[in-house]
Amino acid sequence: MSRRLTGFTPSGNLHLGNYVGAMRPIITEQASSDTVVFISDLHALTLEHDPSEVRRRTLEFATLLLAAGADPDACLFLIQSHVPEHTELHYLLECTTGYGEAQRMIQFKEKSRRQQQVRTSLLTYPILMAADILLYDTDEVPVGADQRQHVELARDLACRFNTRYGHTFTVPQAANPPVAARIMDLAAPGEKMGKSTSSPAGALRLLDEPDVLRRKVIRAVTDTGSEVVYDPQRKPGTSNLLAILASCTSVEPDRLAQLFDRYGELKEAVADAVVATLTPVRERYIELARDPEYVRAVLRAGAKRAREQASEKVRQAKAAIGLLPS
Ligand code: ATP
Ligand code: MG
Repeated sequence: MSRRLTGFTPSGNLHLGNYVGAMRPIITEQASSDTVVFISDLHALTLEHDPSEVRRRTLEFATLLLAAGADPDACLFLIQSHVPEHTELHYLLECTTGYGEAQRMIQFKEKSRRQQQVRTSLLTYPILMAADILLYDTDEVPVGADQRQHVELARDLACRFNTRYGHTFTVPQAANPPVAARIMDLAAPGEKMGKSTSSPAGALRLLDEPDVLRRKVIRAVTDTGSEVVYDPQRKPGTSNLLAILASCTSVEPDRLAQLFDRYGELKEAVADAVVATLTPVRERYIELARDPEYVRAVLRAGAKRAREQASEKVRQAKAAIGLLPS
């Protein structure tokens, strides 16, 4: 069975796009495939951060994943920093990476251009991501276009390490995320809905109350003309609403378009569908959040299981690269 790995960085607020594009596919496939799910809290430290916010969000994201149906018995479910082997392997892989190779990462170039103070970890985090992947003998990493280059780096490092020091790592590959609509920002439908990029009005957050979700949908930007058609180029706002409805109902957006004559009707239907999809997740979250000790115990057990595998992989890598066993 091939192993898949997905990480969530605890920055910003999880939204409907994260749910239909990443969380729901993990949950529907966890019983039939070998899945690793983790909260990449170390990655949240690569940009200016507030310590108490990272801590709060780490627990919030883990609780939301459980609320959405992640089953810690069916998958490996952990917080990155609870498994110190991630950082241990990171160093060994830094010793496998060229400086120029790290500098060539497009995301590093883009993110570092926007800041005055650039943390060294922003340069090296793709190598930490390679460690996240290689530690668990991952076969497939479902990622969007923006992360493909990082998975390529993980592949290159695995091949190089194996060639120089003997076979140690499974060579991973990037996989297309399961077909789900790319959900766009409600207020700016030319951009995708993003955890840290969307305004509050633009993102349907998993923890928004039903009337807030409803209001955001009703106020969503639509297009000129009044016809309801699915045409992302010409009618980005309307098409996004149809894509959202499609993701909540499993009916094709083209077919849905035929059911509505006016934007108002479409928006009512989208609001109902979004509320129906997200309310159970939010209610389960509220229940779980009352018992943070339960969530912490789940996370401790997940880290323990993960460490059993990860420590063996690090032991092999250390021996291969030339370190004397203790
Ligand atoms: P950020 O703004 O911090 O980059 P993000 O919302 O893009 O946040 P990521 O952490 O980059 O979230 O991605 C988490 C997962 O959610 C990925 O699998 C990604 O493909 C998926 N995802 C993110 N945004 C959307 C979206 N708008 N529609 C569908 N899937 C999405
Ligand atoms: Mg993103």
